[in-house]
Amino acid sequence: MANETKATRPPVVTILGHVDHGKTSLLDRIRHANVAAGEIGGITQAIGAYQIEHNGKPITFIDTPGHAAFSAMRARGGKAADVAILIVAADDSVMPQTRESIEHIKNAKIPFVVAVNKVDLPGANTEKIKADLANCGVYVEGYGGNVPIVHISAKSGQGVDDLLEVILLLAELEELKDTSNVDPASALVVESSLHPQKGPLATLLVKLGTFKKNDDLYLGNQNIGKIRSMIDYSGKTVVTASPSTPVQIIGFSKVPDVGEIIAASPSERLESAIIATQSDQSIDLPNIILKADVQGSLEAIVSAIKDQVNIISSQVGLVTDTDIANAAASGAEIIGFNTKMSSPVAKLAEVEKVKFSNFRIIYQLFDYISEIKEKKQSEMAPKLVENGQAKVLKVFNFGAVIVFGCLCVSGKIKIGDLVQGSKIISLKANKKDVDEVKKDEEFGMVIEPQIELKPGDIISYQSIEE
Ligand code: GDP
Repeated sequence: MANETKATRPPVVTILGHVDHGKTSLLDRIRHANVAAGEIGGITQAIGAYQIEHNGKPITFIDTPGHAAFSAMRARGGKAADVAILIVAADDSVMPQTRESIEHIKNAKIPFVVAVNKVDLPGANTEKIKADLANCGVYVEGYGGNVPIVHISAKSGQGVDDLLEVILLLAELEELKDTSNVDPASALVVESSLHPQKGPLATLLVKLGTFKKNDDLYLGNQNIGKIRSMIDYSGKTVVTASPSTPVQIIGFSKVPDVGEIIAASPSERLESAIIATQSDQSIDLPNIILKADVQGSLEAIVSAIKDQVNIISSQVGLVTDTDIANAAASGAEIIGFNTKMSSPVAKLAEVEKVKFSNFRIIYQLFDYISEIKEKKQSEMAPKLVENGQAKVLKVFNFGAVIVFGCLCVSGKIKIGDLVQGSKIISLKANKKDVDEVKKDEEFGMVIEPQIELKPGDIISYQSIEE
């Protein structure tokens, strides 16, 4: 399948919505109904993404927690998915995380479909949902807008085929071009972990080109391993992975972060370079002191967050005076899991201006850690200034090189400017090499590493503030 020349690539779909509205049930329902039983044997999938076929057309679903993946991708300007499903439970309507999901989807500028789930329950009130969505700026079909809406039951399966049909329609309008031949291949990290036996593991979603066994793995200019083996979502070993295919890779020398772009050759990509320098300087990671109720939770938390923050100390028990003193001395904040601090200790914390946050739900603790890490990263990231904007008119695919024919719609665009983190390495106007182009000029550009742009896209040009 990987070597076959196809005009389009499968759409990548993610499901977002409020907790308990049915994301997991829907992912399970789609997987079980559409993945050939022999392939997956009815057992749970091996990795956090899977591919199905609906009416002979492949669709990739990302199965990682939508919100975490989305914030990580957004922080790095990448796109996780081509199409989103906003799931809303019929008996609960729009809730806080529904609103958050709408924000994520709007920021990502991707098409989406509203799936009203649990329509098998009594008390389902579609009109209220439509009105609540309109209050959030989402106007569905038949309610003043054109966002498709499908009524489903993840439990009984009702409406799920219609939902898949709508996804394929939305994807068709996106004209997702096949880029199997683009070189070098690049991919987005959708989940990663450190396995006690296998070492660093990461699930990559191939964005451009084709990854092959034995390919080198680069984060910017930094070599971070070689593909020793790849498995697909069903656990089957594969030797190539084409665009939109999720694969788990063994062979990383370090655990890459979710949202990072991995390429098969070194590149100057700005964001990767920033991350690479940061990971060499642990002093730049946020400092934290961890306290948990029991050893088991403490160990689980440490292993999950140790690459994201600098853990000054981790202990079981209540927060003590010593913890406050250590936190004050190292500029750390204290993170607790099912712990507390006595009121004299709390007073000391107040005097020393030490922040303490206690969590009872582990995922909330993880979300908080991602939040403080992202905050730290954005404080450290070089400030970008916007120089101008252009509209993509045409894409010329010459195999290894892609030239984007564009029209400058505002400002000035210079060679070396950044487009979504990739650098302009060649700029031509009227068939001549030029250093810059101005408003209303048409031009052709080559950027490195390659990213996916299509006619009609409006892109911003940035440079690093001196
Ligand atoms: P998530 O938190 O969004 O992943 O939600 P889950 O998929 O875990 O679903 C939350 C609860 O709603 C579970 O108890 C499901 O069994 C239930 N549920 C999910 N879909 C449906 C549905 O279509 N109908 C009914 N009646 N219950 C559902």
